[in-house]
Amino acid sequence: MSTDFDHIVIGAGISGLGSAHFAARRGRRTLVLESSDRVGGCINSQTFPELGGFWTEAGGHTCFNSYGNLLSILDDLGLTRHVQPKGKVGYLLWKGGQRASILSALHLWEAMRSIPKIFSAPKEGRSVSAYYGDVLGRRNYRDLLRHAFQAVICQPADDYPAEALFRRKPRRKDVIKAFTFSTGLSAIPATIAAQQGLEVRTGQQISVIERDGDGFRVTTGGETLSCGSLTLAVPPDVATALMPAGFDAARAAITDIGVAEIETLVLAFRTSDLGLKPIAGLIAVDEAFYSAVSRDFLADPSYRGFAFHFRPGALGEQAQIERACLALGTTPRHIAAQARVRNRLPALRTGHTARVRRLDETLAGTRLAVTGNWFLGVSIEDALTRSRSESDRLFAV
Ligand SMILES: Cc1cc2nc3c(=O)[nH]c(=O)nc-3n(C[C@H](O)[C@H](O)[C@H](O)COP(=O)(O)OP(=O)(O)OC[C@H]3O[C@@H](n4cnc5c(N)ncnc54)[C@H](O)[C@@H]3O)c2cc1C
Repeated sequence: MSTDFDHIVIGAGISGLGSAHFAARRGRRTLVLESSDRVGGCINSQTFPELGGFWTEAGGHTCFNSYGNLLSILDDLGLTRHVQPKGKVGYLLWKGGQRASILSALHLWEAMRSIPKIFSAPKEGRSVSAYYGDVLGRRNYRDLLRHAFQAVICQPADDYPAEALFRRKPRRKDVIKAFTFSTGLSAIPATIAAQQGLEVRTGQQISVIERDGDGFRVTTGGETLSCGSLTLAVPPDVATALMPAGFDAARAAITDIGVAEIETLVLAFRTSDLGLKPIAGLIAVDEAFYSAVSRDFLADPSYRGFAFHFRPGALGEQAQIERACLALGTTPRHIAAQARVRNRLPALRTGHTARVRRLDETLAGTRLAVTGNWFLGVSIEDALTRSRSESDRLFAV
């Protein structure tokens, strides 16, 4: 049967673009359909044209030399030689209306007593609070780690599966340990999408996918496109809604995976208007925001930028601005530019691995792939590891 495309991917975040890249490199005619007006999803280097193009990361901000699948894509696209090292700046705690050092919250003796358990304590099947409370001590978990993990995943961390955080991966010694690009991480999705051999269409909100023999039909903007293989690379609630008829067991396996909504406020200031020393960001303790991530890792001569990740509904828009300025030791009148972004991250729970196993059993032997940041973990590399294995399943000869 002839089709419009060999492969259609829904979602142009890094998972979808990675899937498209792997398929295009295997010579498959690939189309990516994205609902928003830009590619990248959670990778979003928020650029302010009114500030001469100064940017701040509103989502993902750091890649590591342990990101093997990402690096293979960067190699393919000639991007590896353009990576920029991240400057050494540290995080501070924001607690009780004051900035404090991370060490101030560490119970050193408890940590030293507990740490040997890291070699014996099981991680699989346990929650973040159970596992890390074991290996660094209950008080360290309560006063420090809990907040640090919440800062990373921008949602309550206690019930999150421990194995979905900080997976050990081999490092590539020829690449800088922690890196970005001179225009921010958005250089990655932009370059994947611009390569020859794959097509990306933005502004395409997909709501129905139908089966067409072994393949699929996707209706977009009044046009119906057919494909032999299809990859869903969208958050779990969207994947559940888009699952075609006949994939009822797959839908049932993922239907109760939650999604955390994050209200991100991006603020830029003139460097001369901020007294705060350079920081990587703030880890908030019992606050309306989980964390703030700064642009200070790649210093700009004129501006400084910060993304504050707020709990949904915790504060109104003006109150968010005032709280963020308070944490930075400044006032709203010094803001040079601002933007608001809605981020979404999966809210995984223990037992997640069994859910993924059930999904994979139902997908085996079909031409439907499902990928995203809700399989192995939320990092860019976790997402690409899933995209790679799904691409192998669909296209390996
Ligand atoms: C604040 C924050 C900081 C982070 N920091 C880091 C970091 O430093 N390092 C790191 O490795 N990871 C980090 N992450 C995690 C990482 O950035 C994300 O997990 C990853 O980028 C997600 O990619 P994805 O493609 O799976 O999902 P998404 O980026 O969510 O992409 C899904 C795409 O699908 C589109 N879509 C949704 N519905 C439809 C539809 N119906 N039709 C068509 N398209 C649709 C969306 O618009 C979106 O573009 C961070 C995440 C956040 C939010």
